[in-house]
Amino acid sequence: MIHLENVNKTYFGAQPLHVLKGINLDIEAGEFVSIMGASGSGKSTLLNILGILDNYDSGLYTLNGVRIWNLSESKAAEYRNHMIGFIFQSFNLISFKNAVENVELPLFYQGVSRKKRHTLAMEYLERLGLKDWADHYPNELSGGQKQRVAIARALITKPQMILADEPTGALDSKTSVEVMQLLKDLNAQEHITQVIVTHDPGVAEQTNRIIRIKDGIIE
Ligand code: ADP
Ligand code: MG
Repeated sequence: MIHLENVNKTYFGAQPLHVLKGINLDIEAGEFVSIMGASGSGKSTLLNILGILDNYDSGLYTLNGVRIWNLSESKAAEYRNHMIGFIFQSFNLISFKNAVENVELPLFYQGVSRKKRHTLAMEYLERLGLKDWADHYPNELSGGQKQRVAIARALITKPQMILADEPTGALDSKTSVEVMQLLKDLNAQEHITQVIVTHDPGVAEQTNRIIRIKDGIIE
């Protein structure tokens, strides 16, 4: 599903920073993998490239056999909206929208009618055990609940893969085990490919394969 060959990325700031130094990586459809490495090793940069949120400078990235290179913003958005679900450490919920409105958002961007997106969003909230929290705002939810809202939002477009950047980084250890179990169940039940970035060995151990990155190189 994911194929990277000699992928390089440099940030051109005051000082150029060569962050990814020839990444080679294959991830099969249906895998449940983690990318582990120290802070600053290039994990988020790599995940953003996988999720077509950012470009790379050289090398090759194919997703389901299609070369991802210099896509227009509309083409990139189309891939993201239909194929990829994102989960972030900081949940990235919209604070002035309640739980169900947050979950509906990707369908809003797809132009789905209000009624249909509400019905679907309620279904996903129920699946994630949050039916009674639909009209609550993010600041009324615990960290684990917020991440489950974010997971519902990531799932609602029926993505082929979920890319999670430190999804348990803001959660206590018990809640992070629960969130990881939830992601694992989704992988087992729905065969959604999952790529989980973490610096926590305990989180990485819960996945089926650990990919280690150090200073922009996969070990
Ligand atoms: P990780 O997620 O493993 O902590 P990142 O991929 O976020 O690592 O960052 C790798 C390096 O690139 C870090 O030194 C970081 O400061 C730098 N970096 C990340 N994003 C940018 C950016 N947009 N512009 C310049 N430097 C960046
Ligand atoms: Mg990061």
